[in-house]
Amino acid sequence: MRRISVILVSLAFLAIPAFAQAQKQSSALDKKVDALIAKMTLEEKVGQMTEVTLDVVSKSNASSHQLDGDKLKEAIMKYHVGSILNVSGFAYDRKHWYEVISQIQEAAGKDRLKIPVIYGIDAIHGVTYTLGSTLFPQEVAMAATFNRGIVHKAGEITAYETRASYIPWNYSPVLDLGKSPLWPRIYETFGEDPYLVKTMGASIIKGYQGNDVGDKYHVAACMKHYLGYSYPLSGKDRTPSWIPDRYMREYFLPPFAEAVKAGAKTLMINSGEINGVPIHASKYMLTDVLRGELHFDGIAVTDWRDIQYLHDRHHIAATQKDAVMIAVNAGVDMSMVPYEYTFFTYLVELVKEGKVPMSRINEAVHRILKVKYELGLFDRPVGNPDDYPKFGSDEFRSVSLQAATEAITLLKNKNNVLPLKKNIKVLVTGPTANTMRSLDGGWSYNWQGDLADKLAVGKNTILKAIEQKIGKDNVTYQPGASFDQLQNIDEAVAAAKNSDIIVLCLGELSYTENVGNIDDLNLPSAQTQLALELAKTGKPVILVLAEGRPRIVTEVESHSAATIMAYLPGNEGGDALANILFGDANPSGRLSITYPKYTNSLNNYYRKNLENGNPDDSHGYNPLYEFGTGLSYTTFSYSNLHVSKSELKDGEMISVSVDVKNTGTLEGKESVLLYTSQMYASISPDFKRLRAYDKINLKAGETKTVTFKITPKDLAFVNDVSKTVTEAGDYKIMIGDQTAGFKYISSTVPSRTGRL
Ligand code: BGC
Repeated sequence: MRRISVILVSLAFLAIPAFAQAQKQSSALDKKVDALIAKMTLEEKVGQMTEVTLDVVSKSNASSHQLDGDKLKEAIMKYHVGSILNVSGFAYDRKHWYEVISQIQEAAGKDRLKIPVIYGIDAIHGVTYTLGSTLFPQEVAMAATFNRGIVHKAGEITAYETRASYIPWNYSPVLDLGKSPLWPRIYETFGEDPYLVKTMGASIIKGYQGNDVGDKYHVAACMKHYLGYSYPLSGKDRTPSWIPDRYMREYFLPPFAEAVKAGAKTLMINSGEINGVPIHASKYMLTDVLRGELHFDGIAVTDWRDIQYLHDRHHIAATQKDAVMIAVNAGVDMSMVPYEYTFFTYLVELVKEGKVPMSRINEAVHRILKVKYELGLFDRPVGNPDDYPKFGSDEFRSVSLQAATEAITLLKNKNNVLPLKKNIKVLVTGPTANTMRSLDGGWSYNWQGDLADKLAVGKNTILKAIEQKIGKDNVTYQPGASFDQLQNIDEAVAAAKNSDIIVLCLGELSYTENVGNIDDLNLPSAQTQLALELAKTGKPVILVLAEGRPRIVTEVESHSAATIMAYLPGNEGGDALANILFGDANPSGRLSITYPKYTNSLNNYYRKNLENGNPDDSHGYNPLYEFGTGLSYTTFSYSNLHVSKSELKDGEMISVSVDVKNTGTLEGKESVLLYTSQMYASISPDFKRLRAYDKINLKAGETKTVTFKITPKDLAFVNDVSKTVTEAGDYKIMIGDQTAGFKYISSTVPSRTGRL
């Protein structure tokens, strides 16, 4: 007996350092969470991992969501659901949201452990489902501002208005790379460039979460859709992708890695499959890479119904129960089920059968409860209605207007046809001229954005904004065509003849996800026909593109005097556009995506090099407008590109400066983009890559020096064994029309060129 206790004492002694270490790492909050977990039954734990949609606890057939007391009780008391999400097809005022969330949290307060529910919503460009909220340009347009400050501000306002809707969790930002123009969610991305996506993503996350995610004005961000969602081979939503590991790490992973560093609390998983492996079943992606390499410690939630799809779409699980086992063991923390409770039932059984270890459950529940504590939900499950006087205010509206103004991108301006005088006669025509759906896009008031014309009260379509700007008497409106049908083309042509200028608004209606799948990137022929008939009148055509993805407009565009990419500029987009058209604002957007010229030439700007610079060998990069294109009503010149040293060594940085002068007669903003090229590398290097950017304001005649710092890490790429390295060698820097070179000298990674 004595002997045993001696052994125990010495073992305890040996264990002290490791134990102390673990103690130190485990914060007070972790302990609090663990203490709560220790009190929980298996059912209570699995309930926390279960997320259902609001319909599940609402009265059926009600025109608005009226909660059903019995269903709510069942959800909370029987299934202990940890999370509820979304709304189908409606938008509500703040009062209704207050009632819904209060009832849910009151019900949760009656459960044994009184764990609050975390409600989640897609406030992806402002608060989608709350009437009167501030709707911003969609992400692809926000990226075109090249202004991190305004993206951060939009994040703060969205967080404020989400909390003002009593909701603490936002399924945003989308950090997918907008690489494939056909993909119906390209407008939800920050564009095609990994650096732009990564920096814009980190800015908006900091705006959403602030310094204290638990205060009443901030929400938990949810980076999505991890990983590689945006690049399906067919271009259609949720269809298979084939993405090699090296490619994944070079282009798709960095925005997520940066978001983890920015402190993103939660993550949503890609609904698709890559190389035959659905991401919801990939332990490699969800555990090895996400936790092991990125060190993400927040919640990983599935996307809509995606565990069930492992069985009935991907066919990698023979039964629904197997699907639950595979997904949870791979690393899923919460299932967006979303319509019923089989996830709960199967998972409880699987744990009892020893097929899912309790440690996995505890880990997932720990993450979920920790975020609930961090959000302050235990102390304040519902916000105070009086705390949000700025909801939908003019102050917030003006930020959305500024964002739209800085996003809208002038691509062509022949003979400075723009800005227009205000005393001319204008024909406004085309299917996007008089609908808010083409300004707001999907996720506006409801999922598909189809209620925007009814619910964007007091907001101006392009037509209304132009009428307000120059007076109704100066404006004639004839739609000419719907999105895919000719309408009154003759009247439009007749009106054009009596006008000084034609503002031709083409593009797309609102959509998202599979509803937005298309087979043909060409603009529908009715729109093309309208454009060509109008062009025949000889009147100058200002082509305005309001669209979620770059539809092919090459023939139409060849006839325009000016071309403007408006993207989906949000509720203030009509006014922003009218300000630009008539010279009350100077455009400063730059394309965040390549605008393709041909349907079968859809490469991104970071393509490979030309053979000896031969321009015929374009590697499929033959765009109508390159990534980064954007004009102003003033002109800028670049000079004195200076690199602080000609040799960069390990642990050093170089400072790159350039003078930018406003050489025109108007004040204007300029986005200064720094690209680098590696001349030779062990993996064929990209033609060029964006490494830094800044946006400055210059008065007419003013010059500013813009300085960037570049470290060896900024030049890194993923090599043939999936390692991120910066190889020694020659590099080129490009800003505007200026170029400079330097050499990177590495003691650890020598130049590997020539090794073949
Ligand atoms: C979308 C997600 C969204 C979720 C909840 C899914 O269909 O892919 O982006 O967050 O629904 O609305």
